[in-house]
Amino acid sequence: MARYTDAVCRLCRREGEKLFLKGSRCFTPKCAFEKRGYPPGMHGKTSSGRPDRESDYAKQLRAKQKVRRVYGIYEHQFRRFYSQAVAMRGLTGFNLLQILETNLGNVVYRLGFAASRAQARILVGHGHFLLNGQRADIHSMSVKVDDVITVAETSKDNVYFKNLREEAEGRTPPTWLARDLNNLSGRMLRLPERSEIDGNLNEQLVVEYYSR
Ligand code: SF4
Repeated sequence: MARYTDAVCRLCRREGEKLFLKGSRCFTPKCAFEKRGYPPGMHGKTSSGRPDRESDYAKQLRAKQKVRRVYGIYEHQFRRFYSQAVAMRGLTGFNLLQILETNLGNVVYRLGFAASRAQARILVGHGHFLLNGQRADIHSMSVKVDDVITVAETSKDNVYFKNLREEAEGRTPPTWLARDLNNLSGRMLRLPERSEIDGNLNEQLVVEYYSR
């Protein structure tokens, strides 16, 4: 599937809730959903954007799209992660969310090294992070327990990373991650539990979508 290039705020308005895709802007009055909390498009203001009675398929599709949009994952990657989740032991839906949470881009975001997942993906893509001392520039790489993420030495002189300690102080990482702001590094202590992942995501509907 092609990359989504339209204004990302439309995705929040389409979903009818804030998906927090634009970092600090999402917490300001500039948030498009705060200003126009109705669906985008010509009839958005006069309709809910949904039929009165949504089919099961429509609900499953929306749930899948929402998870994909929150994590910023392409359709083909998402399907690959789903196949991995099916092959793992345990609940497929939870496995899928754990896979998404432990992607390198998401871990960088969770560590507070980026203001949004989109920004984390760009920073990773530009090679600013090392995973266990090795350059890691693919945001969908899987981070394992005890893996260490560090800002590359060559990036520490970059203005963004010079200001990062101060910026990141206001972003508390979850307890499954440990962060060392002095060294601009982080470690995965354990896998996240379901209660530590976005509660507004309905992974069961995603499983139903792919099980049709
Ligand atoms: Fe969504 Fe953030 Fe845009 Fe608000 S500012 S509509 S929360 S992406």
